[in-house]
Amino acid sequence: MYLVEGTITLKLPESSNDVLLKNLYLSCDPYMRNRMSKFDGPEIEGFHAYTPASPLAGIGVAKVVESGNPDYKEGDLVWGITKWEEYSLVPSTQIVFKIEHTDVPLSYYTGILGMPGITAYAGFFEIGSPKKGDNVFVSAASGAVGQLVGQFAKLTGCYVVGSAGSKEKVDLLKSKLGFDEAFNYKEESDLDAALKRYFPEGIDIYFDNVGGKTLDAVLLNLKVHARIPSCGMISQYNLTQHEGVTNLLNLIYKRVRIEGFVVTDYYHLYPKFLEFLLPHIREGKIVYVEDIAEGLENGPAALVGLFSGHNVGKQVVIVAR
Ligand code: NDP
Repeated sequence: MYLVEGTITLKLPESSNDVLLKNLYLSCDPYMRNRMSKFDGPEIEGFHAYTPASPLAGIGVAKVVESGNPDYKEGDLVWGITKWEEYSLVPSTQIVFKIEHTDVPLSYYTGILGMPGITAYAGFFEIGSPKKGDNVFVSAASGAVGQLVGQFAKLTGCYVVGSAGSKEKVDLLKSKLGFDEAFNYKEESDLDAALKRYFPEGIDIYFDNVGGKTLDAVLLNLKVHARIPSCGMISQYNLTQHEGVTNLLNLIYKRVRIEGFVVTDYYHLYPKFLEFLLPHIREGKIVYVEDIAEGLENGPAALVGLFSGHNVGKQVVIVAR
């Protein structure tokens, strides 16, 4: 590949299955932090450790510039695994989906209509098994995944409370995202007491985005047969020594189902998910808050900001429009 007067010329070998992508939007996702450490879990596709001195890889929205795979042609819009650079040459197998609906913001395919969206959908509906009237608690509630879980819970007729790390986020949850209640976990010295205040009858579904002390307090406040979709544990990602969770016996006493999940196992639901969600977006029944960083050079700070709660909503990086 070489640059000629500002245009890209690429000669893909006849047998190549690669695609040349012009990156438009990059997604900042917490799991990327885990790829910067030695990962001692089982092999998960797309989850291997980064190679130092190579561009970060992550989810992005891109335009196909040239393709060795007949399923993709120049000008197609796609989302999938790309790299943190302006143009990327990647195997076409890294494209997750071609983008068919462009009447919504393209950046949505990094969030509500992309990986975090399916995470919220699969975690809440498939694992949470919600029913009308359930009491639902969501942590990191204003983030990429959490804000959708709360809105899905409201659509289902649940009572939903979110926790977040600032007054601005708490206000957003109540005023824009339709949560019944929200609180700033950083201002609660006793999380157990806070949960008892919002859930005097207990919690049916805890959508766990943070793990750690919040999970431990939730375990004391579950109803019998509660469900915990274990989505993420961001409070632990920067710790060398993980915090212990001490209240696990409650899982037995309360006959609770806790289930960890990885979103890629649910990508087969994508068509069904789009069919469900697109009308809600178009009718304004589901809204989505994004936090946009302009320019690839601002990407690293945006990514790091996830771990101090700097982002308000889904953190996206615009590389090109
Ligand atoms: P968010 O958009 O919610 O951004 C991360 C947020 O986490 C921050 O804004 C901050 O919000 C909160 N946070 C950061 N550090 C801490 C901490 N120490 N304790 C508590 N909260 C903290 O991210 P996503 O919605 O993209 O991801 C949410 C979770 O879902 C993550 O754990 C992620 O790993 C997981 N995930 C899992 C997937 C799966 O397949 N299982 C797929 C996608 C995401 P605040 O200001 O409120 O503290």
